[in-house]
Amino acid sequence: MLIQPPAAPIAFPYPEPPEAGCVTEVAPGVLWARFWLPFRLNHVNMYLIEDGDGWMAVDTGIGLDDTKDAWNSLLEGPLRGRRLTGIVATHFHPDHIGLVGWLTERFGMPLHMPRTEFLTALAIQHRAFAANRPFYEEHGLPKEATDLVTTNGHGYLRLVTGLPTQFHRLVMGGRLTIGGRRFDVLTGGGHAPEQAMLYCVEDNIFFSADQVLTKISPNISVQPMEPEADPLGAYLSSLTHLREAVAADVLVLPGHHVPFTGLHARAGELAAHHAERCGLIAAACATAPRTATDLVPILFPRVTDPHQMGFAFSEVVAHVNYMRNRGELVQFREADGVLRMRTT
Ligand SMILES: [Zn+2]
Repeated sequence: MLIQPPAAPIAFPYPEPPEAGCVTEVAPGVLWARFWLPFRLNHVNMYLIEDGDGWMAVDTGIGLDDTKDAWNSLLEGPLRGRRLTGIVATHFHPDHIGLVGWLTERFGMPLHMPRTEFLTALAIQHRAFAANRPFYEEHGLPKEATDLVTTNGHGYLRLVTGLPTQFHRLVMGGRLTIGGRRFDVLTGGGHAPEQAMLYCVEDNIFFSADQVLTKISPNISVQPMEPEADPLGAYLSSLTHLREAVAADVLVLPGHHVPFTGLHARAGELAAHHAERCGLIAAACATAPRTATDLVPILFPRVTDPHQMGFAFSEVVAHVNYMRNRGELVQFREADGVLRMRTT
C-alpha cells in the first residue's frame, strides 16, 4: 500500500494585512494590497506584479467609489506614479472584476481573463432574472428568498463597471510572461466556471484566486441557467489537480485573507469538508425524502435571513447534484411538483 507523506501544515508568513493605501511586498516585485468590501466577507486582495516600467494587476476590487479612491491612493502613493500595464481578472465575481471597465478605460491596457469568465460576466448583463423562478420553486425555496435570488443579478450590475470590448484569453496550460517572469496558467471550476490561477515555478508563488482560501470554504453553487451542473465535482477535481501540479511548499497568494504556505494540506481540508457535508445529506435523505430547501438547515444551521438563504440553497444543490452524479442520491418529483431526494 502506498502511504502518502503527511502534507506540510498551513502557515502564515505575512499575518498582518496591508493598511488601506499601503502595499506589502510578498515576493520580489510582487505587491499585495487589500480593498474593503460591503459584505460579511469584508475585504478582497489585489496583487501587483512588476512588469517593466509598470505593474500588472491581479484582480481589481469591487466597482464602488471607495475602491476607486483606494486605487487612486495606491497609484499616487506606493506605486510611485508607475503605470498599470494590464489586468489579470481571475473570475467574474464583482469583488474581483468590479473595476475592470474603469481601469482598462483609464489606462488603455489589456485585460487577461478566461473566456468563460468573460462571457459569464457579459451574459449577466443580458439575462432575464425573473425567468429563473421555476428553478427555485421546484426545489421548494420559500417565496421571500426566491424573490431575492431572482433579483440578485441587478445587484451584480451595480457592483461592476463594465468590460472592455476585447480581451486576451487565459487558458489552462497556457503561459503568461510578466516582466520577464513566466507564469503557468491553471484554471479550475467549482467556485466560478473557469477561474484562473497563476503559478510561477521559478519564484515558487501561486495566485490561487478564490479556489483555495484558508478561513472559509469557497462558495460552490448551482445556478438556474445550468440546473444539472456539478460544480462540486469540478471543484474536487481541481483540488486534486492542484495537489499534483503545484509544489507543496509554494507561497499561496489568495483572493481573501492572508498569504499562506501548506497548499496541499489546505486542499485536503477543503475536500474533507465537502465529504463531511455529503455525509450529512446522505444521513438526512436516508430517513425521509428531502427537498434541497429541507437540507439547508442541515448544512447551514445558523442561516435564517433570505439573502444568506440564497447562497446556502445554491450550495446545497451543488452537493445534491454531485451525489446524484455519483449514484448516491436519486431525485424525484412528487404530486406537488417539488423535487425531492432520497438515498439509493
Ligand atoms: Zn469569488
